[in-house]
Amino acid sequence: MNYRVVIDTNLVISAFLWGGTPYALLNDIVVREIPLLTIAAMLSELDSALRKPKFSKRFHAQQRTVDNVMDEYRRLTTMVTPADIPAESVRDRKDGIVLAAAVGGSASHVVSGDNDLIVLGSYSNIAIVTAAALRTILNAAVETIIQCVACDGYGTVQDDETGDMIACEWCKGAGYVYRTDAGVDRPIPDADYPHVAHTLERLEAERLRALGYTGESKKPWEQAVRKR
Ligand SMILES: [Zn+2]
Repeated sequence: MNYRVVIDTNLVISAFLWGGTPYALLNDIVVREIPLLTIAAMLSELDSALRKPKFSKRFHAQQRTVDNVMDEYRRLTTMVTPADIPAESVRDRKDGIVLAAAVGGSASHVVSGDNDLIVLGSYSNIAIVTAAALRTILNAAVETIIQCVACDGYGTVQDDETGDMIACEWCKGAGYVYRTDAGVDRPIPDADYPHVAHTLERLEAERLRALGYTGESKKPWEQAVRKR
């Protein structure tokens, strides 16, 4: 997948002023050197929004200025030529600017917090997603799921002192973890389960076959021992 992303102005403001998921996404995009696209109209929209008096306290607290943020965002983005978007294809004129950038820059994804855009789902083959959704997609793309080395996929380990079976700390009882390209393992966040369910089901079936078990396997997340 060749990712090319346009981030809605409101989320760019959130990322710079309040951090959170939009900032984490911006960071993911920069770290992975994914082209972040913009157009002149979006930059001027951002500039005038950031100059609203309601944000001045926040800029002061962060000891930055609108110019700092604009310079930083310009450095992170690639300017593209906007496409013409038929006025009737969007409910709100400002949404047209985002789509013009996305189509003009052959984007793969538009990231927005705006329901008018999110409900579209996609626009001329460009996926329109929330910041959290794109983060999940990007993380799944670079991480493989492997059997947890601490519990061999069981999700439980024996407590040294009591002898009881307890949930494995390493994978949080899932039996599987994410492994990044750099070889670092981490537990699979709860929010990702719907996205990785198929992979977990396949791995669990393979594991049980390797153990010589021929019956149907229960899905890992349906096993009582793995309830969290
Ligand atoms: Zn484990």
